[in-house]
Amino acid sequence: MSPDDVAKLRSAMAAIVGDAHVLTAREDVIAYGFDGTFFANTPPLVVLPGSTAEVAAIHRYANAERVAITPRAMGSGLSGGSVPLEGSIVLGVARLNAILAIDEIDRVAVAQAGVITANLQAAVERKGLFYPPDPSSLKQSAIGGNVSENAGGARCLKYGVTVDYVLALEVVLPNGTILRTGGRSVKNVTGYNLRALFTGAEGTLGTVTEVTVRLLSKPRYARTAMAIFDRMDDATNTVNAVLASGVLPTSIELIDDTTARCIEDNTPIGLPLDAQAILLFGTDGNDERVVVEDTVRIGEIATTGGAREIRIAPNAVEAEKMWSARRAISPSLARRRPNKLGEDIAVPRSAIPEMARRVRAIATKYGLEIPLFGHIGDGNLHPNILCDRRNAEEMLRVTGAAREIFEAAVDLGGTLSGEHGIGLLKKQFMELDLGPDAIALMRRIKDAIDPNGIMNPGKVFPDPGGADAFHL
Ligand SMILES: Cc1cc2nc3c(=O)[nH]c(=O)nc-3n(C[C@H](O)[C@H](O)[C@H](O)COP(=O)(O)OP(=O)(O)OC[C@H]3O[C@@H](n4cnc5c(N)ncnc54)[C@H](O)[C@@H]3O)c2cc1C
Repeated sequence: MSPDDVAKLRSAMAAIVGDAHVLTAREDVIAYGFDGTFFANTPPLVVLPGSTAEVAAIHRYANAERVAITPRAMGSGLSGGSVPLEGSIVLGVARLNAILAIDEIDRVAVAQAGVITANLQAAVERKGLFYPPDPSSLKQSAIGGNVSENAGGARCLKYGVTVDYVLALEVVLPNGTILRTGGRSVKNVTGYNLRALFTGAEGTLGTVTEVTVRLLSKPRYARTAMAIFDRMDDATNTVNAVLASGVLPTSIELIDDTTARCIEDNTPIGLPLDAQAILLFGTDGNDERVVVEDTVRIGEIATTGGAREIRIAPNAVEAEKMWSARRAISPSLARRRPNKLGEDIAVPRSAIPEMARRVRAIATKYGLEIPLFGHIGDGNLHPNILCDRRNAEEMLRVTGAAREIFEAAVDLGGTLSGEHGIGLLKKQFMELDLGPDAIALMRRIKDAIDPNGIMNPGKVFPDPGGADAFHL
């Protein structure tokens, strides 16, 4: 975009949101060119609206002038979705940060898109209510970003993912129309489920400005246990043994040996370094006796399955220590090597042991460190390929390994992404998973809603000709 174009756009945006909320200085806009991946591209302009009406006015102008928009919440995404491409400006929703209602009768919360997820959870919990989806980034991501990626988290094993809680959305369509879809009723099957369509749309269909989520009662008791295994196969088989036993844990998380080493190098909490796999179990409920019994039963099943040690957190402080190890994984990997390519495959539970075996074999084959962790109870694993982008030879091996991981997931009946979305990172692999017909249908939906293609261009849909997936 030429300096004159930027100046013209700046004055148009300032007329809508006020000059203080338009950024064009390089030192300001550069921060909006990143997310949690290694992709980066500085936008020419960032606009920070303070109301839905302002978002709609921005869209109307952008649609008429064919200016591309990349919506952005907190920029913690792990698939490159909020990295602006093709001259796209960034529309940040951080100022839309009000919790508008928490209704104890309807059991809903209504929040603007920029409300930090942890703040929403804390606010509803003060009223004895519960919003379960808990991405590990809950303190660094916003509800609008969670909806747009259909985020998951550890508790989603028992409680489901973001889309299971989205009752209504306010979305500004590309042409500036303010669409309200869904409502507060528990049941609603009137017409197509548009709120599900916009959930996980990754900013390609419009800007989400307001979200109404379903709430539950907060469970009164919770327990955490850790099972330590010498063999990965024993750990993965234990996951299925626990799930087959009738006990439904809140979460089952995997930490493999490479991941444990990274955590201990970064924030030591006493994880064993000679074990191949650690499983972290959460249980919760309203009957303390049942919660304790379930936790003990999980420990027994793990022991039968080959665990060499079971640690049950004696209190909330020790439990929090275990979960903080889990949340520390991402930053600790970042310290080990300059870059990481974080994958997010999901497979049916029956395929979990085989998927874990294949990832470890792929790591050996390509001579790469691939820490394996994730929401293993959901079959949702995060093999993170550690690398240095400046090393061209290593990046060739990374590309080969990533492709083989995707192929293995699809071959085992799984999918490219369980929760992080496609964005830039996985778009070249979409056809492998979905096939041409589903992609063509999605393309027609995109074209119907966004005929001028202004919303988050360059994302989700594969580039023709199969361009290199991991370079910008
Ligand atoms: C340490 C760490 C741990 C993580 N753990 C998890 C996890 O456990 N589970 C999980 O699911 N994810 C996880 N993530 C990934 C990330 O936090 C989630 O994808 C999160 O939902 C992104 O929210 P955000 O507010 O940062 O959105 P952003 O990164 O700003 O945006 C994500 C996508 O949504 C679009 N978007 C953002 N806001 C809007 C809007 N208002 N309207 C329309 N489109 C919009 C953007 O264009 C982009 O495509 C983790 C990330 C990190 C860094």
